[in-house]
Amino acid sequence: MGTYHSTRSRTLACSSKDAIRRGLAPDGGLFVSDELGEKKLDVAGLADLSYHQIARTVLGLLLDDYTDAEVAACVDEAYTGTFASPEVTPLVGLDHAPDGGAVPTFVLELFHGPTSAFKDVALQMLPRLMARTGTAEGEAAQKIMIVTATSGDTGKAALAGFADAPGTGITVFYPEGKVSRVQELQMSTQEGGNVAVCGVRGNFDDAQSAVKRIFGDRELAKRLAERGVVLSSANSINVGRLVPQVVYYFAAYAQLLRSGAIQPGDAVEFCVPTGNFGDILAGYYAQRLGLPVARLDVASDRNNVLIDFLKTGAYDRRREFFTTTSPSMDILISSNLERMLYYVSGGDEALVASLMTDLSNEGCYQVPEELHRGIRALFDGGWASEEQVASAIKHCWDENGYVIDPHTACGFHVLEELPAAEGARARVLLSTASPYKFPRAVAGALDLDVPADDFACMDVLARATGTVPPRQLAELSEKPVRFADVEDIDQLGAYVEQAAARL
Ligand SMILES: *Cc1c(COP(=O)(O)O)cnc(C)c1O
Repeated sequence: MGTYHSTRSRTLACSSKDAIRRGLAPDGGLFVSDELGEKKLDVAGLADLSYHQIARTVLGLLLDDYTDAEVAACVDEAYTGTFASPEVTPLVGLDHAPDGGAVPTFVLELFHGPTSAFKDVALQMLPRLMARTGTAEGEAAQKIMIVTATSGDTGKAALAGFADAPGTGITVFYPEGKVSRVQELQMSTQEGGNVAVCGVRGNFDDAQSAVKRIFGDRELAKRLAERGVVLSSANSINVGRLVPQVVYYFAAYAQLLRSGAIQPGDAVEFCVPTGNFGDILAGYYAQRLGLPVARLDVASDRNNVLIDFLKTGAYDRRREFFTTTSPSMDILISSNLERMLYYVSGGDEALVASLMTDLSNEGCYQVPEELHRGIRALFDGGWASEEQVASAIKHCWDENGYVIDPHTACGFHVLEELPAAEGARARVLLSTASPYKFPRAVAGALDLDVPADDFACMDVLARATGTVPPRQLAELSEKPVRFADVEDIDQLGAYVEQAAARL
């Protein structure tokens, strides 16, 4: 039984629980369900629903083998007492539309979770979903060990989500000396009996490759299985990370209805800072589930591979990689795009498989003209240079008295540049991180002093803007460091094994 299968073939169907437990399909494709959008959500009734109620409805539609009680329990555990706002993802109006037009513009703040970045919305939920995937028939009960390499943000959000989650453990590797001080402290001070954090001598790609080797190591898998442990990943291609992100598009619409900014049925444009195409793909899912979406705007930083793709229909990763002030969007292989190609091509798994073969063999692919037209009908977008990111932060502050982080600033820039979508009654910019996660870039953009110490810089920002740093960031400088391990690349498998032995 099951409605999920790979984007690259239909042969192996599985349930949503299996898809979440496995993460990636055996042929390297991503799990999708052809039932997406068969059942719609009642948009007119949204105004009366809380975030929790919307989450229960959306999860129930997309993860059909979870019982209502399971879904309700997951939602309660993930979003009660974990986000610093009763709305979970509050919507804030801007005084001035960035493009100077008449369509009112709002910011959807996705960063009120435990690590102050939008990944919390999904990573608070994924462990609860995983804990309820059970065990395949005939198998002994297993614990899941999550292994993740991180360039900064994902690692902390995954740690916070999986800390003390029943039946799971988590090991995070980060490149030593190559994450910010705030990011390093966020990870090294992580509490929880099932967590392990380790610096790696090397860069992020080294750590990522080592983690891939760990997943491919059959001997290691066998030894872990004897202890009742199976490895898994918290990567953003997991269905269990995608589905929770669909919820906040509906939650934004509900808040617009409640404030009277729109009437039921009015179309809304969403502008989304994007790297791996996960966040914006969730908006496409919301549209398929019946949300009136006027347009989805892809916002990139200087790594603008997606914008070139939108323009030409050619995806080409053979280009220079830039390190920017928006590190979480510094990505050249945008994995979740594969799901969009699958759906917009009408479920053409053979086409997707051949495009992905081109990508891995040649580093590029070209989509057929008809598919390109289909994509352009749904998506537009743009990208911001480093200078444009800084001026977007400055403009937003000068015009609205509202501080945004460099990732969100890419989206603000796109909203300045692009006229509102036809028929849009509101524009919503998804804000993916608290400005206090990147205090140096933000203070610099606002022409403030930029002290060398991140925490001193947070103080400067707070005083100058009258805003308050999230407590969990401000108090980091005083939290005890629990992990100071640093390992060579070839020792990471052994490190995971030791961590598994402690589970
Ligand atoms: C991960 C991340 C993004 C990009 O999200 P995708 O799902 O990869 O598109 C944008 N902003 C921040 C702050 C992030 O952490």
